[in-house]
Amino acid sequence: MKPSHIEHIGIAVKNLEESIKYYEDVLGLECYNVEEVKDQKVKTAFFKVGEVKIELLESTDPEGPIGKYVEKKGEGIHHIAFAVENIEDKLKHAEEKGIRLIDAEPRKGAEGLDIAFLHPKSTFGVLTELCEDKNK
Ligand code: ZN
Repeated sequence: MKPSHIEHIGIAVKNLEESIKYYEDVLGLECYNVEEVKDQKVKTAFFKVGEVKIELLESTDPEGPIGKYVEKKGEGIHHIAFAVENIEDKLKHAEEKGIRLIDAEPRKGAEGLDIAFLHPKSTFGVLTELCEDKNK
């Protein structure tokens, strides 16, 4: 698979505004983008730390994936996203290796990336996102 880097770390929060303040005021990072991803029922906020981004996720619907996650497990690290090329091939490769896919086909995520998730039950407990920036 060989990802080039960790594209971002996804963190589930209850309140985007309050958590943005922590990242800005305490960590001194700058929120450069806030975006709603309707498909996933979340509002997202992005920060850059070197090449890696932090993606904060607040649910817009208690029945959405992040809403359910926060309800069950509370706030915290939700997923790790690896940057790959040819995401369709990488998904096929993972499936051939017996990994359970959440997304059999890539879909559009925040920042216009093509994304797909691998199920944490087959990735040792880490919800894993593959993403590809096809706009580059
Ligand atoms: Zn993500």
